[in-house]
Amino acid sequence: MKDFANHTQTRGEGRNIEITDIEADVIDGNFEWNIVRVHTDAGITGIGESYRGGGVPEVMEYMNRFLVGENPLDVERLFRRMVQETSGHGGTTGKVVTAASGIEIALWDIAGKALGVPVYQLLGGKYRDQVRIYCDCHAGEAFAVEDGYHEPAAEDAYAVEAYADEAERVVDMGFTALKFDLDAPYDNSPDPYNGRVSNSAMERKRKTVEAIRDRIGYDVDLAFDAHWDYSIDSAKRLADTLEPYDLMWLEDVVPPENTRAQREVARSSSTPLATGENRFRVHEFKDLLYDYGIDIITPDPTTCGGLAESKAIASRAEENYIVFSPHNVCGPIGTMACVHLGASIANFGVLEYHALEVPWWDDLVTTDQDLIQDGYIEVPEDPGLGVELDEDVARDHMLGDGQLFAWPTRSPSRLVRFGPVSLGPHTGGSEWSRR
Ligand SMILES: [Mg+2]
Repeated sequence: MKDFANHTQTRGEGRNIEITDIEADVIDGNFEWNIVRVHTDAGITGIGESYRGGGVPEVMEYMNRFLVGENPLDVERLFRRMVQETSGHGGTTGKVVTAASGIEIALWDIAGKALGVPVYQLLGGKYRDQVRIYCDCHAGEAFAVEDGYHEPAAEDAYAVEAYADEAERVVDMGFTALKFDLDAPYDNSPDPYNGRVSNSAMERKRKTVEAIRDRIGYDVDLAFDAHWDYSIDSAKRLADTLEPYDLMWLEDVVPPENTRAQREVARSSSTPLATGENRFRVHEFKDLLYDYGIDIITPDPTTCGGLAESKAIASRAEENYIVFSPHNVCGPIGTMACVHLGASIANFGVLEYHALEVPWWDDLVTTDQDLIQDGYIEVPEDPGLGVELDEDVARDHMLGDGQLFAWPTRSPSRLVRFGPVSLGPHTGGSEWSRR
């Protein structure tokens, strides 16, 4: 086994920095937002965020084994090290990559703060001063996540006019791009498992899209998400049925694993097809991009491998003239990481915002004005991500009162969940042990 620890010792003045602790917490937003702080011996703390989901905070803190003592400025090498060190237990994909993504973002934040430049500058520079946001919307009471489970609302919440009302309200807020869910409980008839869309359900979807277009017109970009529900014949019929409504895209119409099926739908209709949020690292995107299995690629930078990996995916998309429009259901930290990424990518399209239901969404970070202004987020010029976590607001919304974990460099006031651990010398991967 090779030793992937730090072998480069020669740095300019002020750049000999060491990571001292990685600390994860969960914010209870409309999703569970997995946030991470990476502390250093230079007094700089980087903040990051990983896509939601159980197990991610545990894996983030597990990475203390490999990263404490490392120089956080080696962002790409440290991401590679996290993948390498955990490759035998899932590190090449899935939740381990998700956890590494949030840490990678925090490392960029540290690097920006240490060098006095915004993260977009480190990613290669700026194509745009503002990043365009699309608002993920839900008709009526049609969306709620409780304890990680999305329970559908009663069927009348999915009335056609409820969609049109919400679209009008969100456009009035200044957004110029929207997305709604187009899968609904009425898809359960006659059978929720075989992926077929009945004629009546297909017509109800068409009427829903028509009602929104009648209300907001065709100047607003409009996308719909189907959450991987349909058989290939129903997916093709749906894409075909919606052609007259000039959609920005139709998302995840077939299950995500089969690139050939995705391509079959994408190439059958003039409605643009989008997918990507289920895939990890650049390897899992190659077939989609090089075989034109998709029209718009939608990776989630907070789960697919962080900002550098996302930029690699975007480069391959650009090579094939495919637009890169990131999936995002994060709090403001993950969102601002995506803003820096969006600023630095030529083929960037729009960035998702999925927290309309959370009035304190951007209170989580220190900013004196709303982050989203008229459907755009300004690319920050302050060093790092350009925002800081508001610790008081974060504490008010933390799951478990912020006491999920206790690692040795923590305040002793934090409760112990897994039992205390001891940390050996900061040189390798095996010095962590439970007492
Ligand atoms: Mg989606």
